[in-house]
Amino acid sequence: MTTITHRLPQKRHLVTDLPGPRSAELTARRRSAVAAGLGSAVPVYAVDADGGVIVDVDGNSLIDLGSGIAVTTVGASNPAVADAVAAQAHHFTHTCFMVTPYEAYIAVAEKLNELTPGDHEKRSVLFNSGAEAVENAVKIARLATGRNAVVAFDHAYHGRTNLTMALTAKSIPYKHNFGPFAPEIYRMPMSYPYRDELGTDGVAAANRAITMIDKQLTADSVAAVIIEPVQGEGGFIVPAPGFLPTLADWCRSNGVVFIADEVQSGFCRTGDWFACDHEGVVPDLITMAKGIAGGMPLAAVTGRADLMDAVHPGGLGGTYGGNPVACAGALAAIDQMSELDLPARARHIGEIVTSSLSAKAQALAAEGRGVIGEVRGRGGMIAVELVKPGSTEPDPELAKAAAAHALSRGVVVLTCGTHGNILRLLPPLVIGDDLLREALDILGDALTVD
Ligand SMILES: *Cc1c(COP(=O)(O)O)cnc(C)c1O
Repeated sequence: MTTITHRLPQKRHLVTDLPGPRSAELTARRRSAVAAGLGSAVPVYAVDADGGVIVDVDGNSLIDLGSGIAVTTVGASNPAVADAVAAQAHHFTHTCFMVTPYEAYIAVAEKLNELTPGDHEKRSVLFNSGAEAVENAVKIARLATGRNAVVAFDHAYHGRTNLTMALTAKSIPYKHNFGPFAPEIYRMPMSYPYRDELGTDGVAAANRAITMIDKQLTADSVAAVIIEPVQGEGGFIVPAPGFLPTLADWCRSNGVVFIADEVQSGFCRTGDWFACDHEGVVPDLITMAKGIAGGMPLAAVTGRADLMDAVHPGGLGGTYGGNPVACAGALAAIDQMSELDLPARARHIGEIVTSSLSAKAQALAAEGRGVIGEVRGRGGMIAVELVKPGSTEPDPELAKAAAAHALSRGVVVLTCGTHGNILRLLPPLVIGDDLLREALDILGDALTVD
């Protein structure tokens, strides 16, 4: 295993209040130039990033617990990725794979066919964004099955385009007043051990959904079931053991395409190459993006050759899909994931994060401030669900206040969840242990802010 050397000092270092004066200036400038509908989790503008740190325009060095939403798994300026991207850009930035194809696209497809769960015959197709991958997975499933209905779950997030908005569960901010939505989407209850009356009985939770599908639409009208094996925006919800395998088995028996949306959970994030791997689930189609290319915009659908090849020539594509610079980034990033054994690194990070936050939960509970309802997740994808002490009532205000407090001390942390009451940790997997522990201490302090 190789180790990584960082270009920037791996230190938290604050030289101004946050946001600093130059960030504040950019926020003011942005208001008259950038559409108001676009939010930013943190009002601090970046100039550099490497390993576990982001340097802002005022010269502050912040600890990154977000990875740009699970994207910069190998670091935001991983030298192998940066070199591969630069080298490709010096030759050609684009020809369009649908006009004059090139080898890197094929090499990425081969890699994805090899790394994704299952050893069956597979094919891949590349796109620009997670939402575009999800849209195409649904197109492929509908064409291959000749059926229309698509089943999605409570708390699901699949993107912001019209079809993926319809698949997404939460109205504000993603869907509110953006309708009408794509038809033939049916939502079923998720397995959510912390809040679900079926608790850790994943098989029962899957059967609850299957019974509802049978009642509401019958299996033979269902083209696909789409699910995030660990839900991302919905709150890092890990379904109870048995839930995913039972659903996948039902799909197989009924000719329904099982789509795993691994846009957030894929590429070593959960401590395995894909979150499906933890329970040996083999999806028919898998959607990928975010961590795939070390920060370059790339997405993919990989799946059973018979489904993928059912589509007529010209039925799939896009001008930029599988852009050669993004493909070069992906090949280098995936190489780094193997070389640095990032699945193992994610598991190690998961142990540090879980033990720190669980200890904090116990200490707070002992003081009568039991605000941590649950610490959950897998590997480098751990969240804390915050509640009003002594209850399971969500506390979104505390999540917001804690994230703001952490930022004021130089730690970038994201919130999520249907109720907005969840702090989610997605550090770059190349972050050092000491820096991570420092950020966790600050986060622990942030939970006691009033
Ligand atoms: C982020 C995300 C998407 C959408 O990806 P974009 O690249 O933002 O379009 C889809 N599914 C899941 C699970 C995601 O986390």
